[in-house]
Amino acid sequence: MISVNSKLPQAGTTIFTVMSALANEVGAINLSQGFPDYDTSPELIELVNQAMKSGFNQYAPMAGYMPLREELSRKTEKLYGAYYNPDTEITITAGGTQALYTAIATVINPNDEVIIFEPAFDCYAPAIKVAGGIVKALELEPPDYRIRWDMVKRLVNSRTKMIILNSPHNPTATILHQEDIDALTAIVKNRDIFILSDEVYEHLIYDGEAHHSMAQYPELRERSFVIASFGKPFHATGWKVGYCMAPAVLMSEFRKIHQFLVFAVNAPMQAGIAEYLKNESHYLELPGFFQQKRDYFRKGLESTRFELLPCAGSYFQSVKYERITDEKDADFAMRLVKDFGVAVIPVSAFYGRGTDHHVLRFCFAKRQETLDNAVERLIKV
Ligand code: GLN
Repeated sequence: MISVNSKLPQAGTTIFTVMSALANEVGAINLSQGFPDYDTSPELIELVNQAMKSGFNQYAPMAGYMPLREELSRKTEKLYGAYYNPDTEITITAGGTQALYTAIATVINPNDEVIIFEPAFDCYAPAIKVAGGIVKALELEPPDYRIRWDMVKRLVNSRTKMIILNSPHNPTATILHQEDIDALTAIVKNRDIFILSDEVYEHLIYDGEAHHSMAQYPELRERSFVIASFGKPFHATGWKVGYCMAPAVLMSEFRKIHQFLVFAVNAPMQAGIAEYLKNESHYLELPGFFQQKRDYFRKGLESTRFELLPCAGSYFQSVKYERITDEKDADFAMRLVKDFGVAVIPVSAFYGRGTDHHVLRFCFAKRQETLDNAVERLIKV
């Protein structure tokens, strides 16, 4: 038998795939993996259709369809006051995950240290390890999951090559505030530390709060790969189209890898999205749209025995369940899907060491009827 020297010996199948498969198998309501159960806009579908019919069926340019990059440049300048040159500083990727992987592969060499904040989205650590880097995880704790910047300062040393941030945050639904930006700026100043900023939930932010993008702070922007995507804002997670913005010196290195990993992203989606982005209400209306869902779901959960944690952004609502059981979160999640018909994500899956604070994550990007049915089941728990 041929043997494989695994690059990721500890890795199993991602929790999202496991829970969604289980939900399908047992016919449960799937509030686990983050994706909507309603369709994307017919207008956007029509634009992609038109693009296909009018011949956008061959390779797009390696860095992405130029009108899409131009729209993104305009949008970023308008929202964050930061200009990215569409020619040299923006690349369209096959979703956020690929952009994150590529950015890590671009700058991480063997034994470079990367600071991540756990619970962390599950693709960061494996990408660091494949590149030979070392994951330095700082664990955050409920209920507020605040970053302790004094601890970050202690972790930083001459081998620190990158800090990965994610705001609004998956899975904890927290957001960065000005004091976080200030503390981060003080830490990276005069050091060769890159920032990888996962901003895929930039438009899913509530209660009138403003998103703090790395793009808008010159001292951070000069060292940042800003990653975002169209899957979350345009309710089309299956299209897998995202992008990366970074200063030209970083982007030229990013593209050296991107060109051999994906070469170019599917053309008709890019053409359709470019057109759709021209109407800014398509993203400016998102906080209101999702806040309504958040509030509705939170209200429903109030009649259960789950305890709500704060939700400032993203489309995830976390809960504690100590009033119900002292089971491990992974065991309880299994019981919820099998016995009560609701699939959720156990938040220990986002900690490298499997730390269990007895917290579960629900996705509320669902039709009202789905949320009603889920709450009806959760009341029985
Ligand atoms: N971002 C989504 C989530 O957190 C799904 C990502 C994935 O399945 N890879 O649920």
